[in-house]
Amino acid sequence: MSRELKCCPYCGSAALEKRSELQEFSVPYGAPARVQVDTMVCRECGLDTDVTEGKDVRDAIDSAVEGTVGRIVDFLGSGGRTLSSVERALDLPERTLSRWKNTPKLSRESITLLRFLRTYTWLVEVADRGYNEAFARGAVLREAGRIVTEATEREGVTVAASACIGETYEALTFTLTKTREKETVHVVGSGEPVLV
Ligand SMILES: [Zn+2]
Repeated sequence: MSRELKCCPYCGSAALEKRSELQEFSVPYGAPARVQVDTMVCRECGLDTDVTEGKDVRDAIDSAVEGTVGRIVDFLGSGGRTLSSVERALDLPERTLSRWKNTPKLSRESITLLRFLRTYTWLVEVADRGYNEAFARGAVLREAGRIVTEATEREGVTVAASACIGETYEALTFTLTKTREKETVHVVGSGEPVLV
Protein backbone atom coordinates (compact mmCIF):
# COMPACT_ATOMS: atom_id res chain seq x y z
CA MET A 1 0.00 0.00 0.00
CA SER A 2 1.16 3.52 -0.71
CA ARG A 3 -0.43 6.85 -0.06
CA GLU A 4 -2.11 8.70 -2.91
CA LEU A 5 -0.39 11.66 -4.55
CA LYS A 6 -2.40 13.53 -7.17
CA CYS A 7 0.05 16.28 -8.03
CA CYS A 8 3.72 17.14 -7.55
CA PRO A 9 4.27 18.87 -4.19
CA TYR A 10 6.93 21.11 -5.78
CA CYS A 11 5.53 22.27 -9.17
CA GLY A 12 1.91 21.12 -8.93
CA SER A 13 2.06 19.05 -12.14
CA ALA A 14 -0.23 16.03 -12.39
CA ALA A 15 2.20 14.24 -14.72
CA LEU A 16 3.39 11.72 -12.16
CA GLU A 17 4.87 8.31 -12.76
CA LYS A 18 4.98 5.57 -10.14
CA ARG A 19 8.21 3.64 -9.63
CA SER A 20 8.58 0.72 -7.26
CA GLU A 21 11.71 -0.98 -5.98
CA LEU A 22 12.48 -3.61 -3.38
CA GLN A 23 14.60 -2.18 -0.56
CA GLU A 24 16.36 -4.09 2.20
CA PHE A 25 16.54 -2.94 5.80
CA SER A 26 19.16 -4.72 7.86
CA VAL A 27 18.08 -6.46 11.06
CA PRO A 28 20.63 -7.53 13.71
CA TYR A 29 21.04 -11.32 13.88
CA GLY A 30 18.50 -11.94 11.15
CA ALA A 31 17.71 -11.77 7.48
CA PRO A 32 17.04 -8.24 6.23
CA ALA A 33 13.48 -6.98 5.97
CA ARG A 34 12.45 -6.56 2.33
CA VAL A 35 9.95 -3.83 1.59
CA GLN A 36 8.52 -2.52 -1.66
CA VAL A 37 9.21 1.21 -1.73
CA ASP A 38 7.00 3.29 -4.02
CA THR A 39 8.08 6.64 -5.42
CA MET A 40 6.10 9.10 -7.52
CA VAL A 41 8.37 10.87 -9.99
CA CYS A 42 7.27 14.18 -11.51
CA ARG A 43 7.76 14.21 -15.29
CA GLU A 44 7.85 18.04 -15.27
CA CYS A 45 10.43 18.85 -12.59
CA GLY A 46 11.89 15.43 -11.77
CA LEU A 47 11.04 15.54 -8.05
CA ASP A 48 10.90 12.08 -6.37
CA THR A 49 8.32 11.73 -3.62
CA ASP A 50 8.34 8.61 -1.43
CA VAL A 51 4.71 7.51 -1.07
CA THR A 52 5.34 4.27 0.85
CA GLU A 53 3.21 3.95 3.96
CA GLY A 54 5.56 4.19 6.97
CA LYS A 55 3.45 1.52 8.67
CA ASP A 56 4.28 -1.01 5.92
CA VAL A 57 8.00 -0.46 6.47
CA ARG A 58 7.64 -0.75 10.25
CA ASP A 59 5.52 -3.92 9.95
CA ALA A 60 8.08 -5.57 7.65
CA ILE A 61 10.96 -4.69 9.99
CA ASP A 62 8.99 -5.80 13.09
CA SER A 63 8.24 -9.13 11.48
CA ALA A 64 11.91 -9.66 10.51
CA VAL A 65 12.96 -8.74 14.07
CA GLU A 66 10.38 -11.16 15.49
CA GLY A 67 12.07 -13.93 13.51
CA THR A 68 15.38 -13.28 15.32
CA VAL A 69 14.06 -13.62 18.90
CA GLY A 70 13.88 -17.44 18.93
CA ARG A 71 17.34 -17.75 17.42
CA ILE A 72 18.90 -15.40 20.02
CA VAL A 73 17.12 -17.16 22.92
CA ASP A 74 18.32 -20.57 21.61
CA PHE A 75 21.87 -19.19 21.44
CA LEU A 76 21.67 -17.97 25.05
CA GLY A 77 20.65 -21.45 26.18
CA SER A 78 23.53 -23.14 24.36
CA GLY A 79 27.25 -23.59 25.00
CA GLY A 80 26.86 -25.28 28.37
CA ARG A 81 24.29 -22.82 29.73
CA THR A 82 20.62 -23.39 30.34
CA LEU A 83 17.92 -20.78 29.91
CA SER A 84 17.01 -21.09 33.59
CA SER A 85 20.60 -20.34 34.63
CA VAL A 86 20.54 -17.22 32.42
CA GLU A 87 17.19 -16.18 33.92
CA ARG A 88 18.56 -16.63 37.45
CA ALA A 89 21.67 -14.57 36.62
CA LEU A 90 19.55 -11.76 35.16
CA ASP A 91 17.02 -11.94 37.98
CA LEU A 92 14.19 -12.62 35.51
CA PRO A 93 11.10 -14.62 36.49
CA GLU A 94 11.30 -18.34 35.61
CA ARG A 95 10.55 -19.26 31.98
CA THR A 96 10.72 -15.61 30.87
CA LEU A 97 13.10 -16.38 28.00
CA SER A 98 11.17 -19.33 26.66
CA ARG A 99 7.99 -17.27 26.91
CA TRP A 100 9.64 -14.47 24.91
CA LYS A 101 10.31 -16.96 22.10
CA ASN A 102 6.57 -17.33 21.62
CA THR A 103 5.53 -13.75 22.29
CA PRO A 104 4.43 -11.90 19.17
CA LYS A 105 5.42 -8.22 19.25
CA LEU A 106 7.89 -8.55 22.09
CA SER A 107 8.69 -5.19 23.71
CA ARG A 108 11.55 -3.16 22.30
CA GLU A 109 13.25 -3.19 25.72
CA SER A 110 13.29 -6.99 25.74
CA ILE A 111 14.62 -7.15 22.17
CA THR A 112 17.37 -4.67 23.06
CA LEU A 113 18.35 -6.76 26.09
CA LEU A 114 18.48 -9.92 23.95
CA ARG A 115 20.70 -8.21 21.37
CA PHE A 116 23.15 -7.02 24.02
CA LEU A 117 23.32 -10.50 25.53
CA ARG A 118 23.89 -12.02 22.09
CA THR A 119 26.61 -9.48 21.25
CA TYR A 120 28.43 -9.48 24.60
CA THR A 121 27.87 -13.03 25.77
CA TRP A 122 29.97 -12.51 28.91
CA LEU A 123 27.39 -10.01 30.28
CA VAL A 124 25.48 -12.98 31.74
CA GLU A 125 28.56 -13.96 33.78
CA VAL A 126 28.93 -10.36 34.99
CA ALA A 127 25.27 -10.36 36.12
CA ASP A 128 25.79 -13.76 37.74
CA ARG A 129 28.60 -12.24 39.86
CA GLY A 130 26.32 -9.47 41.10
CA TYR A 131 27.84 -6.90 38.70
CA ASN A 132 31.09 -6.98 40.70
CA GLU A 133 33.24 -4.20 39.20
CA ALA A 134 36.56 -6.04 39.39
CA PHE A 135 35.02 -9.15 37.81
CA ALA A 136 33.43 -7.00 35.07
CA ARG A 137 36.79 -5.39 34.21
CA GLY A 138 38.43 -8.80 34.17
CA ALA A 139 35.70 -10.12 31.89
CA VAL A 140 36.44 -7.39 29.33
CA LEU A 141 40.17 -8.20 29.38
CA ARG A 142 39.52 -11.96 29.16
CA GLU A 143 37.32 -11.34 26.12
CA ALA A 144 40.05 -9.19 24.54
CA GLY A 145 42.51 -12.02 25.24
CA ARG A 146 40.19 -14.54 23.62
CA ILE A 147 39.89 -12.36 20.49
CA VAL A 148 43.68 -12.04 20.29
CA THR A 149 44.23 -15.75 20.86
CA GLU A 150 41.78 -16.57 18.08
CA ALA A 151 43.55 -14.11 15.79
CA THR A 152 46.95 -15.61 16.58
CA GLU A 153 45.71 -19.12 15.89
CA ARG A 154 44.13 -18.04 12.65
CA GLU A 155 46.94 -15.85 11.39
CA GLY A 156 49.97 -17.62 12.91
CA VAL A 157 51.42 -14.54 14.59
CA THR A 158 53.30 -13.59 17.77
CA VAL A 159 51.72 -11.16 20.22
CA ALA A 160 52.90 -8.14 22.15
CA ALA A 161 50.31 -6.39 24.29
CA SER A 162 50.40 -2.91 25.73
CA ALA A 163 47.80 -1.16 27.82
CA CYS A 164 47.44 2.55 28.37
CA ILE A 165 45.57 2.88 31.62
CA GLY A 166 44.54 6.26 32.97
CA GLU A 167 41.56 6.83 35.21
CA THR A 168 39.75 4.40 32.98
CA TYR A 169 41.06 1.89 30.46
CA GLU A 170 41.64 4.19 27.52
CA ALA A 171 43.45 1.95 25.12
CA LEU A 172 44.51 -1.62 24.94
CA THR A 173 46.65 -2.40 21.93
CA PHE A 174 47.84 -5.76 20.80
CA THR A 175 50.54 -5.80 18.17
CA LEU A 176 50.57 -9.07 16.33
CA THR A 177 53.63 -9.74 14.20
CA LYS A 178 53.60 -12.34 11.50
CA THR A 179 57.01 -13.95 11.73
CA ARG A 180 57.16 -15.30 8.23
CA GLU A 181 55.65 -12.47 6.25
CA LYS A 182 56.91 -9.70 8.59
CA GLU A 183 53.47 -8.17 8.64
CA THR A 184 52.05 -6.39 11.63
CA VAL A 185 48.46 -6.73 12.71
CA HIS A 186 46.97 -4.29 15.17
CA VAL A 187 43.87 -5.27 17.07
CA VAL A 188 42.41 -2.29 18.83
CA GLY A 189 39.09 -3.17 20.33
CA SER A 190 38.20 -5.05 17.21
CA GLY A 191 37.16 -8.64 16.70
CA GLU A 192 38.72 -8.70 13.27
CA PRO A 193 42.45 -8.07 12.84
CA VAL A 194 43.24 -5.12 10.61
CA LEU A 195 46.30 -5.48 8.42
CA VAL A 196 48.49 -2.37 8.40
ZN1 LIG B 1 7.09 18.61 -10.28
